[in-house]
Amino acid sequence: MSTQDNSQTNQSTSKPNTTLPNIAFIGLGNMGAPMAENLLKAGYSLSVYDLSEAATKRLQQSGASVADSPKDAIRHAQVVISMLPAGKHVHSVYLGENGEDGLLSELPKGTLVIDSSTIAAADAVTVANAASKLGLEFLDAPVSGGTGGAIAGSLTFIVGGSNNAFAKAEPILAVMGKNIFHAGDHGAGQVAKICNNMLLGILMTGTAEAINLGVKNGLDPKVLSDIMLQSSGRNWTLEVYNPYPQVMENVPSSNGYQGGFMSKLMQKDLHLALQTAQDTHVETPMGAKATELYDDHAIENGDKDFSSIMGRHDHSVLS
Ligand code: NAD
Repeated sequence: MSTQDNSQTNQSTSKPNTTLPNIAFIGLGNMGAPMAENLLKAGYSLSVYDLSEAATKRLQQSGASVADSPKDAIRHAQVVISMLPAGKHVHSVYLGENGEDGLLSELPKGTLVIDSSTIAAADAVTVANAASKLGLEFLDAPVSGGTGGAIAGSLTFIVGGSNNAFAKAEPILAVMGKNIFHAGDHGAGQVAKICNNMLLGILMTGTAEAINLGVKNGLDPKVLSDIMLQSSGRNWTLEVYNPYPQVMENVPSSNGYQGGFMSKLMQKDLHLALQTAQDTHVETPMGAKATELYDDHAIENGDKDFSSIMGRHDHSVLS
């Protein structure tokens, strides 16, 4: 692992530094947009693409040039970064519909491709192998830290791929993150990421359940949260992402569960973890239970932040 000082993310300059590689950034959603903003602030020249015009407009205002297509975005790029919802989007962008007419086939040899989406390790390996056949370097580099970490430039990157590609990517990732782990070869970043997110899903459902039990027995959710924060139930969701409205400022639960990490994306990650567990004959009963709860919750609340699982217990928080 290497950790680096990312203080450069706080610089307010958006003037491109011509000694830095040009970057094409694809996928400017809740995570991709702030990550791209931090690269611009650090002086990288960015060409951006997203299916949503609203998403690209925000980046244009920050100094990025907006491309009409992924192929347009990569025209002058030495590095490509993607932050897409799921494996099917990554497959379609890089490999195209027939597996051979995607972005990879357009990139000059030696281009570094970094995919930070959370997808199945097997899908990451498929794209990495296709990239390698074309003389490109591919890294799976999923992240942890949420939208708060993306905005602050303090994400954790969990990277799979060659030492050489990792060394090239590290200074770029250090602009967007604070902790950068090299987990192993292609796909290793994704395996580590889904282990983390399976645990996060379990912690969030458990925390929501505990707060609800306290509230239904007369406790104030903030008082209970403060107590658990200083007790053995302490965990990340209580520290920075409390699921109960108005316990914490600047978290999705205090903003109608908008933004953040959508329940349908947590559901996707839990299924990735379960699939990996099944394929490798590993038992994950708690992961299976969290998956069941998010499967049910996402039917009506898929676009709401994953902390809205609180509403499964206390319906009033969703109204
Ligand atoms: P999001 O849905 O907010 O953003 C995805 C963006 O990709 C959207 O703007 C969408 O328009 C764009 N997109 C989809 N298909 C595209 C295509 N073919 N070409 C160009 N753009 C396309 O999702 P997000 O929350 O930013 O998450 C992105 C990835 O990061 C997911 O894999 C998610 O699991 C992972 N992740 C999210 C969080 C979080 O807190 N939100 C944290 C860690 C990891």
